[in-house]
Amino acid sequence: MLTAWLAFTMSACHGEPVDTSPGVSLALARHRAATVSAVRYAVDLTVPPRRDVPVTGTVTVRFRLQHDRQPVVLDFTGPPDGVTAVTSRDRPVDYQLQDGHLVAPAAQLGDDEKELTIAFTAGDGALNRQEDFLYSLFVPDRASSAFPCFDQPDLKARFRLTLTVPAPWTAVANTAADAVESAGASTTYRYRETLPISTYLFAFAAGRFQVEEAARDGRVMRLYHRETDPRTLDRNLDAIFDLHADALSWLEGYTDIPYPFGKFDVVAIPSFQYRGMEHPGAILYRASTLFLDESATQEHRLDRASVIAHETAHMWFGDLVTMRWFDDVWMKEVFANFMAAKIVNPAFPELHHDLRFFLAHHPAAYQVDRTAGANPIRQELENLNEAGTLYGAIIYQKAPIVMRHLEQLIGEERMQEGLRRYLGDAAYGNASWSDLIATLDPLTEDDLATWSRVWVEEPGRPTIEARRTVGPDGQLADLAIVQTDPAGGGRLWDQSLEVAIGTVDTVRLMPLRLRTAATDVPDARGLPADGFVLPAADGVGYGHIRLDPQSRDYLEAHVTLIADPVLRGVAWNALWESVLHQELAPSRFLDAAVAALASESEEQVVAQLLGFTRTAYWRFLTVEQRRERAAAVEQALWSGVLRSAPMSRKAAFFDAFTSVALSHQAIGRLERIWAQREGVAGLTIGERQQTAIAEALAVRGVPETAAILERQLERITDPDRRARFGFVMPALSPDAAVRDSVFESFRAIENREREAWVLDAMAFLNHPLRAEHAERYVRPGLELVTELQRTGDIFFPLRWLHTLLDGHASPAVAQTVRRFLEGRPDYPPRLRGKIQQAADELFRAADIVTTAR
Ligand SMILES: [Zn+2]
Repeated sequence: MLTAWLAFTMSACHGEPVDTSPGVSLALARHRAATVSAVRYAVDLTVPPRRDVPVTGTVTVRFRLQHDRQPVVLDFTGPPDGVTAVTSRDRPVDYQLQDGHLVAPAAQLGDDEKELTIAFTAGDGALNRQEDFLYSLFVPDRASSAFPCFDQPDLKARFRLTLTVPAPWTAVANTAADAVESAGASTTYRYRETLPISTYLFAFAAGRFQVEEAARDGRVMRLYHRETDPRTLDRNLDAIFDLHADALSWLEGYTDIPYPFGKFDVVAIPSFQYRGMEHPGAILYRASTLFLDESATQEHRLDRASVIAHETAHMWFGDLVTMRWFDDVWMKEVFANFMAAKIVNPAFPELHHDLRFFLAHHPAAYQVDRTAGANPIRQELENLNEAGTLYGAIIYQKAPIVMRHLEQLIGEERMQEGLRRYLGDAAYGNASWSDLIATLDPLTEDDLATWSRVWVEEPGRPTIEARRTVGPDGQLADLAIVQTDPAGGGRLWDQSLEVAIGTVDTVRLMPLRLRTAATDVPDARGLPADGFVLPAADGVGYGHIRLDPQSRDYLEAHVTLIADPVLRGVAWNALWESVLHQELAPSRFLDAAVAALASESEEQVVAQLLGFTRTAYWRFLTVEQRRERAAAVEQALWSGVLRSAPMSRKAAFFDAFTSVALSHQAIGRLERIWAQREGVAGLTIGERQQTAIAEALAVRGVPETAAILERQLERITDPDRRARFGFVMPALSPDAAVRDSVFESFRAIENREREAWVLDAMAFLNHPLRAEHAERYVRPGLELVTELQRTGDIFFPLRWLHTLLDGHASPAVAQTVRRFLEGRPDYPPRLRGKIQQAADELFRAADIVTTAR
């Protein structure tokens, strides 16, 4: 939506016009970065006890200005009548409000240091106000919805916050409070001034929170939370503090820079939009990422450790050194993920880390990069109000892979040296991707700018396949690894990878640098040709690994017998690509995956196979194929529950069983377990599973659905989780009219406030078992997307699209999506891309299901 807005000029002033079109345009940001400096804010906010009474405040902003020729433009997107007074050193200022900006004549703001004091009513949008707590979440450009400011990442500022909240509440912010003053029904927290930080990192939370304190390595850390179950706290507190302490000390070692922000607290928020958000000194987390069940799977534990490491790494990568503009937002995400992978390793010595890296990154990156809507890692951004559309798997998953390639190219030590220099040079400031490349380029003989172009500036991935000839003796006569550009552009993706050649008895790994279209593998000559060739078997190489027919058949039959778990993981993923590209029937793949579960020893591969099983089962089988296989799949998963020794693996099988159960027998078993008439030896069925079972039973339309849901609601004692369940219950109703009204209700913005709940409800509405009825939601659901992008949080539009489409596989729905896009040639390109990304598997499934009929 890059409408060309006419630039606005203050008639009373001279000089170039300043762009005051809505949002923060790149032109405005560049102008301000060039003229404004040394920014300080004193923000004073009062939170009333009642949620429907607005938060009010004043902000005094002080800064230096290069010259007085143009007006000063601040951003404020709060209520239309939200600005109540504007003064400078007690003298009124002739300000104007213009498209979300507050414009003031520079000459009225003082000479040396400019000063502007604004009294305002805050918008609630980014304050996430609940009955008895609230928290700010200002990324990427939403600080200006709460108070007037220069809302762009490269005008870092020192913030001094004074927060007045209802007396029973407690509060936390980026820095420690100097003073806490109680006065009757309210308490005022006066926080110390922050070090220079970007507006999107300024943060606070207040409400009824409990506070746990712990000391690690001489540092006192606090956890603010609302968890009411003492066992949950007992089980998790030490791990939460330890994981943060380990991450901090690792990062201090790697960067050679002590933790840059002094105080370190974390806040667990129920139903938080993201898994975590890296506000310096006050990281916010979704409570469920930190507090794990007794039966948490290894995946859950890893996930928690990774999220904690990710957010902690941001203190250096993102918070200390920040991108100049959100087109480089991927850099902070890539470093956080890249560091997280390094940090998590020592904490999980029993784990296969190369496999972990592959499974955490490649499949999700491919899920976007194989689609028509794929985006490059680095994208142009004309206005901050579109920054949300930049986020996704390309930033979070592909970019770390590319960074790992970069590390291979440069070498680990020189990479670390380069990053230390980069952080040191730009500490408490900003830097761009080109700054980093300029720092790293002298450390290698490769031309990093050229390398960066195809990997960072362009979308897509190469198709990588083996081309082999077999001699008369049955041995390999020739082997080349060939890369092609599926877009037909002849692009080449320079990378190092390993090719595996072998059989279940012996596997040879051969390192290779792919610089050209075809790369010869001379050492392969004379090796037996009756096995498989698997390019990128190291789990680092990146591309559509297209198996040749012989390798595909061999791996389908023998993959479980390969000793190396990384190789098994990569091979399973390559087989899955064969399904998506119609080279292997989904039913055959499913049969192989389910059979493999009986012998797979590596828990990560078990999790991978359980994921494939669910997707193949629900999305890629016809209804008849599913019915035919249900009993066998349930049986295999149930044996997994009984057979598995560690509770985490039992739980993984149990969750998958709950997800696929279709037969009378399996549903009956779930009902008995839910009613606590039957137990599962060695597995504690906690509230999470009970809730999941109740939801699964409801979607299956068991006769007692209403009673089960009511009873489950009573069982949930935690008020936040109870509220969430109450919200999603109507979406589980057997009555289609009730479900229709739930969908209808999401048209109104006030019903979408709790986005995580909305997404859960959407997934139930569009469950595969209800897909036929839910076809009617698809078109209106797509029509809402532009509004969701405008009003929702950054991940919401894509997640909405996934919950809208992931339950569907019918050609009719695929057609609806295609028509929607065809009928809107002027649709915002990045949102079009998101729809194409979310619909890709639907398109493929619809094609496959059509063929299978
Ligand atoms: Zn992040």
